[in-house]
Amino acid sequence: MRSAKPSSSGLDPVSEAGLRYNGFMIHEIFPVGPLQCNCSIIGDETTGEAMVIDPGDDVDTLLALIRKHNLQVKQIIITHAHIDHVGGAMRLRAATGAPILLNRNDYALLKMLDVQASWIGMPAPGDVEIDQSLASGDTVKAGRYSASILHTPGHTEGSICLYFPVEKILVAGDTLFAGSIGRTDLPGGSMQKIMQSLHGTLLALPDETTVVPGHGPLTTIGEERESNPFLLKG
Ligand SMILES: [Zn+2]
Repeated sequence: MRSAKPSSSGLDPVSEAGLRYNGFMIHEIFPVGPLQCNCSIIGDETTGEAMVIDPGDDVDTLLALIRKHNLQVKQIIITHAHIDHVGGAMRLRAATGAPILLNRNDYALLKMLDVQASWIGMPAPGDVEIDQSLASGDTVKAGRYSASILHTPGHTEGSICLYFPVEKILVAGDTLFAGSIGRTDLPGGSMQKIMQSLHGTLLALPDETTVVPGHGPLTTIGEERESNPFLLKG
């Protein structure tokens, strides 16, 4: 569940499966499900190890892409416990054997998936089991690629972002969008906390960092620092 207001940049150009902007790291970004959550597959071409971030839906497409690249999924990482980000996680775990990771502050929201499904008229996905909690300071890896976990509460209590410092890529979940920020009016949301997460944590990253938001087009930290109306001071 996405932004507070529609993005100024309009409709979603991340529409073709298989966008790759880095010749070495496999990074497939494709929108899944009715709310078009950006799911990422990040893989190491050499070792074949991969992580999947936010498998909200369309698990068959996901598995086809995983097979296409000959990847073995080692971790399933959920940026926050909204149904459009977590809905396909159990099917993906069953198909790959990979553990599901989520920050423990979102475990309560995870218990409300049936309610969330009714909000958007989706069938309830059933119970999702978390294998491990992720917190600030943790590192997750796909072969030689590693990301630091940043706990960024505000859209939900347990929202996290993944920052790949070498590649300068941020997978931002629903905390930051191109031209917008995550909504804070759902259970667990807090405008004060998201502002703290944005100004204190995400805007501390380098301007050239590519941001992969939970929905909609890619952006950069510099672009958002300059022009995001929710981040401009005064
Ligand atoms: Zn959300």
